[in-house]
Amino acid sequence: MSDETRLGLDFVRQWVKDDMETGRFSPPVVTRFPPEPNGYLHIGHAKAICLDFGIATEWGGRTNLRFDDTNPVKEDVEYVDSIRQDIQWLGFTWEDREFYASDYFEQLYEWAAFLIKEGLAYVDEQSPEEISQNRGTPTLAGKPSPFRDRPVDINLELFQKMKEGSLPDGAMVLRAKIDMAHPNLNMRDPVMYRIKHAHHHRTGDTWCIYPMYDWAHGQSDAIEGVTHSICTLEFENHRPLYNWFLEQLEIPHPPRQIEFNRLNLSFTMMSKRKLLDLVQKGLVKGWDDPRMPTLTGIRRRGYPPSAIRAFVTAIGVSKTDGMIELSALEYYVREELNRTAPRVMVVLNPLKVVLTNWPVGKVESLPADNNPEDGNAGTRTITFGRELYIEAEDFLEDPPKKFFRLSPGKEVRLKHGYIIACNEVVKNTDGSIAELRCTYDPDSRSGEAGGRKVKGTLHWVHAADCVEAEVRLYSTLFTKRDMGDIEEGKDYTDYLNPESLTTVRALGEPAIRQAKIGLGYQFLRHGYFTPDSEHFSPEVPVFNRTVTLKDTWAKIEKRTEN
Ligand code: ATP
Ligand code: MG
Repeated sequence: MSDETRLGLDFVRQWVKDDMETGRFSPPVVTRFPPEPNGYLHIGHAKAICLDFGIATEWGGRTNLRFDDTNPVKEDVEYVDSIRQDIQWLGFTWEDREFYASDYFEQLYEWAAFLIKEGLAYVDEQSPEEISQNRGTPTLAGKPSPFRDRPVDINLELFQKMKEGSLPDGAMVLRAKIDMAHPNLNMRDPVMYRIKHAHHHRTGDTWCIYPMYDWAHGQSDAIEGVTHSICTLEFENHRPLYNWFLEQLEIPHPPRQIEFNRLNLSFTMMSKRKLLDLVQKGLVKGWDDPRMPTLTGIRRRGYPPSAIRAFVTAIGVSKTDGMIELSALEYYVREELNRTAPRVMVVLNPLKVVLTNWPVGKVESLPADNNPEDGNAGTRTITFGRELYIEAEDFLEDPPKKFFRLSPGKEVRLKHGYIIACNEVVKNTDGSIAELRCTYDPDSRSGEAGGRKVKGTLHWVHAADCVEAEVRLYSTLFTKRDMGDIEEGKDYTDYLNPESLTTVRALGEPAIRQAKIGLGYQFLRHGYFTPDSEHFSPEVPVFNRTVTLKDTWAKIEKRTEN
């Protein structure tokens, strides 16, 4: 690590640095990303992934992918596969270090037996309700279980029985024997094992007792030689428990746990449980619906992974939960796509224009630059002819003063093409506009020396070769800024945005047929779009709007003026 990158280190990185410099750990730095395979990863997980993998990389260390698969009922291989794919897509690799908490079930079982022998764990036959009732409150000490002081050999025998499978779910649990009056409720004899006759996606029917997350987590880290166990703030008051287990087991060099704030985004709901509910209720079209905050959803939406990494770096970490504006994420998406996205012209709401002084049948080829922000992007050829389409919103019959687009008697430039003037508005019988009759100025071809300038530049397509496309316009899935703060008596479904998806039939230049899945395109003056990974084909182009251009009309006008 160079001195420059050390400047301004966040507190997580500062802890890691201190530990490596004081020799608390010897290299390498080892971190892990520990998802529970009970849903798809979301943008919040991306923050954790970037931290876990980022910090290890900065120290030449390594990161394990460890599935915390301690709850067989909710877990599924579908989720395991999607998690793998999403981490790779974000640009990180765990090489061959893919682990599962279930790999350690045998070791955890032995360690539990060891704690029983040490008099530090016992089998409790209270019902789950009694256990929770007798736990006490922050101000009221818990009530010790009547089974708390049973002898070691009975505990060992019962624990063995729990494992053998003859007992029904909930009959008994194994608890750590710590302190029923501890001010931290997590220390009041937490449950370590429960009986669950459930098929596990990896261990099958081998086990009918499963370790609690709190019992499995710290030990799994320790087994893997994790030096820094980075997690979110809600685990802060579990840390004393993790440390207690590691101490009793006399594990050398126990990992240091460092907690940071979760990512919360405005207008976004992040809980996997609720995201699953959205999917199951059919309120979205699946985990990869482009409106979802899942990584698979935003990938389909067209967010580049580099933009997500840049966003996560920019927001940093802290010790207090807060909310980040969705617009901050969109800013990084635009930044990236502005640099990389080829420009094309697509008219979302077409209005026909006929150039009355353009010879019937004549077609002219025009060069068009692919990306003014990228000198290597080259040019393409587009065609120009007598019948064109412009955006309906770009014409007003009776315009306000500063409207620099098309109106009767006014001139605009057609991007890469000619200056046109509107002479006549042809109406349908219902009074709506059928088409515009215009003339073009033959001496105004774009790029020609000494050319005239006019205030407005419009995008357009050529009627003779334009391509019909389905374009899906998205806005936020929810209407409420803080989805973590739902009023009593309401639930998240009360805040679903009925306008989160609008589909339009657009007309685009022929190049859109060649769009590549996974790449972003700027539709001039509209925003960034990407071919839909499921439905796009060259014959039936389907695009998702990734993000709009935030720029005001005036700014766009300036950029496209030529
Ligand atoms: P959720 O609450 O969304 O269901 P989770 O915390 O149960 O998520 P896990 O699979 O346990 O999901 O998460 C794996 C890792 O990702 C954990 O270390 C967790 O702290 C981290 N993580 C989860 N959500 C966020 C978030 N919004 N911001 C940052 N890190 C997160
Ligand atoms: Mg969790």
